[in-house]
Amino acid sequence: MSDLRTKLWKVDGEGPALREQLSEAALRLRHGGLVAFPTETVYGLGADARNTSAVERIFTAKGRPSDNPLIVHVASIAEAEALASHVGETERRLMETFWPGPLTVVLPVRPGAVSPRVTAGLDTVAVRMPSHAVARELIALAGVPVAAPSANRSGRPSPTRADHVREDLNGRIDGIVDGGAADVGLESTVAMVDRATGAVRVLRPGGVSAEALAAAGFAVASAGAEPDDADREAPRSPGVKYTHYAPKGELCVVEGAADAVRAYIEARLDADAAAGARTAVLAFAENGAAPAYRADKVIALAERGDTAAAAQRLYAALRECDAARAARLYAEAVDPQGLGLAYMNRLRKAAAGRVVRV
Ligand code: AMP
Ligand code: MG
Repeated sequence: MSDLRTKLWKVDGEGPALREQLSEAALRLRHGGLVAFPTETVYGLGADARNTSAVERIFTAKGRPSDNPLIVHVASIAEAEALASHVGETERRLMETFWPGPLTVVLPVRPGAVSPRVTAGLDTVAVRMPSHAVARELIALAGVPVAAPSANRSGRPSPTRADHVREDLNGRIDGIVDGGAADVGLESTVAMVDRATGAVRVLRPGGVSAEALAAAGFAVASAGAEPDDADREAPRSPGVKYTHYAPKGELCVVEGAADAVRAYIEARLDADAAAGARTAVLAFAENGAAPAYRADKVIALAERGDTAAAAQRLYAALRECDAARAARLYAEAVDPQGLGLAYMNRLRKAAAGRVVRV
């Protein structure tokens, strides 16, 4: 398809200048268009959540399975309330505590509030108010609730920069708002309140950790640490059962003490080199020094222990490994605490479960 079909709006202003830069994108959204935009988690692919044909175009553009519901993005708590048939006390406190920010709250859907294609037939709707200034201005200007999954082709790593969106969706969508790199780099936490107990169940770990929920005084029934169980049972959050975030090569995640991890990866790299396979490693730097792996591509994501910085770079790094045509990839694991739980959840999925403990 022609490059000319997907417009690119570069935005860098604030206040009235930003609104001016976003006016055409907002108009497109309002009139049934598909517009990708930055949020603090990853880039989203937005459409008017009430407009079924617009929402259907999201599934087509992404190649997304139709039973995977979409998160609706709003610009205020009042707009979230308008989408729900009821907002309980705990849900309200979640919104007041963590919004705007990377927490998606699952609410009972108000009949007719959004297209049934958004909820994929569930009686709930997942809602989030992003903190990214560009996202919020765009949603407010469009004046409609915006259904927005990550703006990547289904199964690929989520986009954290506008050029990632272009790589996957150019010619398939109406436009891309380029607002620079996403901050968190991993998708939002999806949470649901257990009606019987009032406890918070994390359906997908993300930018708001279980520790942060607990620190804010919420009882946490599940931190979302059991992706395999969630994948096996009829999942409450249907999207978790699909292959996600995957690079083109075969990724293996290696857990254990740093020295043992390094020795294991070195041995595998030697075997790969002997077999003529191109290789890549996602590693951590130590005191500013990148590790000296004998691979075709070595990416030092961050200093060891800086999970937030590694999360911010992870998806871009997976795409760089694709660009380097790596057939075998290795990633050093992180401690699954705080944001580390979401990080490991995405890595494990990108690796289709290939996790080695040494
Ligand atoms: P994505 O937009 O690709 O980041 O994926 C959205 C995630 O939110 C998927 O894991 C969905 O299963 C989940 N989700 C969306 N709507 C609901 C809902 N009503 N109930 C539970 N999970 C949902
Ligand atoms: Mg996604």
